[in-house]
Amino acid sequence: MRAIISVYHKEGVEELASVLVNLGYEIVSSGGTAQYLRERRIPVTEVFEITGFPEILGGRVKTLHPAIHGGILLRDWKEEDVKEAKSLGIKPIQVVVVNLYPFEEKVKENLEEEDLIEFIDIGGPTLLRAAAKNFRRVVVVCDPKDYSWVASKLKEGGLSLEDRRWLALKAFHYTAYYDGVISQKLADMWGVEEPFEVSAFPLRIVGRLRYGENPHQRGYLAENPLEDLGIVRARVLQGKEMSFNNYLDADSAFRLVSEFTKPACVIVKHTNPCGVAVGNDLISAFEKALSTDPQSAFGGIVAFNDTVKEKLAEVLVERFFEVIVAPEFDDAAIRVLARKKNLRVVQALGFGSWWDIKKISGGFLLQEEDRTDYQDWQVVTTRKPSYREEEDLKFAFKICKYIKSNAVVIAKDGMTLGIGSGNVSRVDSVRCAIERALRYGFDLKGAVLASEAFLPFRDNVDIAAQVGIIAIVQPGGSVRDREVIEACEEKGISMVFTKTRHFRH
Ligand code: 5GP
Repeated sequence: MRAIISVYHKEGVEELASVLVNLGYEIVSSGGTAQYLRERRIPVTEVFEITGFPEILGGRVKTLHPAIHGGILLRDWKEEDVKEAKSLGIKPIQVVVVNLYPFEEKVKENLEEEDLIEFIDIGGPTLLRAAAKNFRRVVVVCDPKDYSWVASKLKEGGLSLEDRRWLALKAFHYTAYYDGVISQKLADMWGVEEPFEVSAFPLRIVGRLRYGENPHQRGYLAENPLEDLGIVRARVLQGKEMSFNNYLDADSAFRLVSEFTKPACVIVKHTNPCGVAVGNDLISAFEKALSTDPQSAFGGIVAFNDTVKEKLAEVLVERFFEVIVAPEFDDAAIRVLARKKNLRVVQALGFGSWWDIKKISGGFLLQEEDRTDYQDWQVVTTRKPSYREEEDLKFAFKICKYIKSNAVVIAKDGMTLGIGSGNVSRVDSVRCAIERALRYGFDLKGAVLASEAFLPFRDNVDIAAQVGIIAIVQPGGSVRDREVIEACEEKGISMVFTKTRHFRH
């Protein structure tokens, strides 16, 4: 049995090597690795002893040879492969341990082009990719973090197919990343502009947008590498070119509208909903959503959770909207919408994976999307919400998830009456929601209020009580919960705790 070990970072490899030796493996290594192992009294065969070729071109060619790659790639379940290898004196290799020249680390050292290029590893990725391709038989280790568990499994009798597949995926991922960094750096150095510089792994650019959030920012459409099926879930059926903000808002609107089972409509501006409603049909849902705040809805993004038909399309073309998004549009609706040739009509094709990616300087933050709903619904006041109020509380709390914190939603009869979004103080969001509702003449008596995070002080309740709010839902968990609940008791308001918070930053 043979294992090839060729590592740039050598720390810790001796332990794995000695396990391999004890199991009867012959270790084959490139020059530097061989020396390192020998110094640690581990017997090694050098690559040239097998290939009959020295390392050449200053190390540019070390392991690139049929005796090595034949040994890795041969399919021992294929008679022809076995025969061929035997006739050429190629012995199978079962384990490949490689880590690559540290190109990315060297980028930071500001080397001259000529010197930097020497840190592009050629044979290493080839070893890794060959081994990963032959995962059915070969164990490929590209990360020192895997040395110890791989060693234990080898001692226990070998790695499972599942383990070998996992290691193979990791190796492909590593080489893809490695090449991405190289193309990105060289594009930078050579002043080659998009799309290469951003298409470096892990982003897959699929389109250039007119610009980003603002005209002075470049913008692209890219597929999420974390998606199982990497496609952007939108089909643009007609209208002006989709902009960066259109995509963002349409996605946000469609995600929210899809939370509802009844016919629903969401109108979004700058990723925040400005009107949400459920109704007996999409037309009534739209009319209710629009009436929440017709002023803000102007030029908004309108999303539906069901097929848009002709009659609804007739209503939609009466007003100015940027985008209409829905899972389906029937032919008659398409014909009506086509009258407004600038209107973007987007068919949403589902969601894909549930990863949310946010950017920080020099990195990304990844999180699962917020999918939870009122897990632990608990009425904490003497007054219990009625069935109708409870429905409205659930409706309003769902919406909070899609609003920039601090989020406050006032709702009644399956429609939003006022939305407070993005304020830096909660009570301001409460005031904002109330003020908006009153501006459009809504009577808030008997309406409900939802807050995406806990109410820190009773002032929120006091203000809500003044306008006749009858029930409030919030996660709870403030040190002043007692005080807040007492305020509700005083005012005869029902309060529900959900224990689940929905910050959106
Ligand atoms: P060593 O320190 O053992 O001499 O070299 C180890 C490094 O060489 C590893 O990072 C490995 O990826 C890389 N390597 C192995 N074979 C080749 C090759 O044929 N060409 C180049 N450029 N690098 C190789």
